[in-house]
Amino acid sequence: MGHRTVASAALGFERTYGRAPDGVWSAPGRVNLIGEHTDYNEGFVLPFAIQHRTAVAAGLSTGHAVRARSTFSEEPASAEIRAIARGTVTGWGAYVLGVAWALTGQRGAYLTPAGTSVPGPSDPAPEPGRPRLPEGVDLFIDSDVPVGAGLSSSAALECAVACALDELWCLGHERTALALAGQRAENEVVGAPTGIMDQFASMLGREGAAVFLDCRSQSAELVPFGLGEAGLELVVIDTREHHAHATSGYAARRASCELAARLAGVRALRDLGTDDLPVLAHLADEETYRRARHIVTENARVLESVEALRVAGPAAVGPLLTESHRSMRDDFEITTPALDLAVQASLGAGALGARMTGGGFGGAAIALVPLDAVARLQDQVLGAFASSGFNTPRISTVTPTDGARRDR
Ligand code: ADP
Ligand code: MG
Repeated sequence: MGHRTVASAALGFERTYGRAPDGVWSAPGRVNLIGEHTDYNEGFVLPFAIQHRTAVAAGLSTGHAVRARSTFSEEPASAEIRAIARGTVTGWGAYVLGVAWALTGQRGAYLTPAGTSVPGPSDPAPEPGRPRLPEGVDLFIDSDVPVGAGLSSSAALECAVACALDELWCLGHERTALALAGQRAENEVVGAPTGIMDQFASMLGREGAAVFLDCRSQSAELVPFGLGEAGLELVVIDTREHHAHATSGYAARRASCELAARLAGVRALRDLGTDDLPVLAHLADEETYRRARHIVTENARVLESVEALRVAGPAAVGPLLTESHRSMRDDFEITTPALDLAVQASLGAGALGARMTGGGFGGAAIALVPLDAVARLQDQVLGAFASSGFNTPRISTVTPTDGARRDR
């Protein structure tokens, strides 16, 4: 895995631009093990980087533009760095150009690791005797991260591009700063209100580990998540269901969480523990209360999962995954019949735990499965979907893998 996309990105670069790239960088997609909708409540998440990667072959050019091509689309993307802003770029290029924008600041000045800005190569008059850095960059992208399947192809793209630009432009940013640049690109240039989980997982992931992330302090810690040693597989069941209500549903859940926090007199639901729930039950209407209860108990489940992984190993998180699904189904109401079926059929086939993963209203479920039950699970899930008349799901396995890196 990965090597093929690295080679093909390099080859695509050579064919497109007529020279060899200066380097090839790649970054992975991710799966969230547990901690759903907790990110915007300033809570905890526990994602891991997966073996599918997006590779970016990159080289400095003499111009002032970022030019990009991708095997994902016939359409090229390019813009003068100083012209990039929200609304000026659309389509897939917004992810790439957005990262360039986030890394250079809005004035063509590079952000230093400390957050102060220094004159960037866009500045028209370099000091005499000081060589002007080349700022133009050519990029060619290839990927084996499925797009729109809940595995965060967008963060994989942003993080690979961020690593490439950071090195080519000699910015020297920390990994977390590059992750935040990816998020800014997605929020402010693409226009999608996402949290920090995807980019942090893609940047900081490690083989055999999950990334425990505190979305308030933005501090991250690796937690052992070695599936092979434990005789387990993590199976992804992509329902291929359209996220029909995802946008409106997401906004409504966010609003409920904000209301609950306001009623409880806290900054975010992160500040409530399970002990506070009885009081909240008196302050909030029944639906708002259930929405909040999901967040509060989900944060507790993430912390329990981290503890379980540290002291007992991956098998111990199984029941927490299943409880997380129940909470999303009954309290947060973001699952669908197909997701519920995927979980139920997985548990029936011997999974130690299963839950939907991602924003909900469609998308994928994950199941933690003993190696010898994987084939049975596949048969039984496919059978259950066929007899219920749902689309045939796409079933695959994922393993915790290293985050963004330079490959060549
Ligand atoms: P996901 O869950 O896969 O992150 P998103 O809707 O957040 O779904 O992001 C998918 C979008 O990211 C695509 O529509 C495309 O614009 C962009 N994208 C992802 N991977 C690539 C790629 N390899 N090349 C070009 N654009 C990509
Ligand atoms: Mg995405």
